[in-house]
Amino acid sequence: MKYKEIGSRAALIVDKIRLVHESRAGDLPLHESVFDEADASSVAEAVKNGFVSGFGGPQLDAFENEVSKIVGCDHAVAVVNATLGLSIALRAVGVEPNDEVLVPSISFVATANSVSHIGGVPHFVECSPSNLGIDCDALEIHLSEVGSIRRGGFLFNKLTGRRIKALVGVHVFGHPCELDRLVRIAEIFNLALIEDAAEALGSFFKCRPVGSFGSLSVISFNGNKIVTSGGGGMICTSSPDLAQRCRHLATTAKVSGTLDLDHDQIGYNGRLPNLNAALGLSQLSRLAERIEKKRALYLAYKDVFEDVGFCHVLGEPEDCISNFWLQAIVLDGDDNLSFRNEILVRANREGVQLRPLWKPLHLLKPYINSPRANITCAIDFSTDIINVPSNPA
Ligand SMILES: *Cc1c(COP(=O)(O)O)cnc(C)c1O
Repeated sequence: MKYKEIGSRAALIVDKIRLVHESRAGDLPLHESVFDEADASSVAEAVKNGFVSGFGGPQLDAFENEVSKIVGCDHAVAVVNATLGLSIALRAVGVEPNDEVLVPSISFVATANSVSHIGGVPHFVECSPSNLGIDCDALEIHLSEVGSIRRGGFLFNKLTGRRIKALVGVHVFGHPCELDRLVRIAEIFNLALIEDAAEALGSFFKCRPVGSFGSLSVISFNGNKIVTSGGGGMICTSSPDLAQRCRHLATTAKVSGTLDLDHDQIGYNGRLPNLNAALGLSQLSRLAERIEKKRALYLAYKDVFEDVGFCHVLGEPEDCISNFWLQAIVLDGDDNLSFRNEILVRANREGVQLRPLWKPLHLLKPYINSPRANITCAIDFSTDIINVPSNPA
């Protein structure tokens, strides 16, 4: 593409984004939390009743209960953030130092960090253009090449000699990854499946809530997510045993039912304070409305970008219902790096906050030597995909 053409196409994209948000004056942020009177009084109630800390409280119980219903799991354990929630979930399924965990190369860095924080080794795999999640065909081929089932039916990495213990599926921007196939692959290769559903509260895969497919799943309530508790995460599972293990690890592994102050593992100070749960609980009551508005915003973007010809709006994967947490446009064609950069610079100059897709995790400095599959699509996505203002208001 000639420089002049790059400029005019970038300008067109910024104009189109503005058009979608026509009724709004001023800058367009990527995210915006919305709070109302009900949120304020829920938090005030926690303070008034003295339930503010991480030692439980009525709103914490109610928050866990509500999320478990939405996710379709029997148990939910609220923790201080989803990154820690993932680490705890990994430990609960038996990931130990030096074990490998399969992680898609396209995700927020927290997915890989949660493995590293417990001494595990992220093993990066390829992503699919249809949903930005793990490419299951490529994963099967990769595991049959580098994996070997040995001693007691466990999967080992032939190249590193380490055991591969778990597989983490990520639902990027709220779009479900191919959960039925991931469940199958986890069975075949004897892996624990964990869903990083941080972005996907309220999404469905084939009529079943996302977060109910893995042995455990983790939702985030960070400030930029679809609803927020100020900061927070929720570990969901239908296994009473796994739920108990997570709760135990999140409460400094304190042994109950004894007069001694006894701790039987190295646990975490990880329980969500009731104060945060109070906000999260109140926010949940508007989840359905937010999802509806996010979808309307997606349709508005789709409409406006329909006739552009050199890019399209990232849509919903087949047989899925997405919560459309974060909207994205995809640049068609190849070699989009300078085009992408021109769009980002121009938009940010004009007060339209855009964000490039995450740099593929296997290319980040801390992970440059980590084990990996053959990854090419994920690298292309990082220059082709741009997140656009996703405020449904
Ligand atoms: C936000 C996010 C996390 C981490 O959530 P925190 O609650 O901020 O720790 C993990 N994975 C993905 C995909 C995320 O988007």
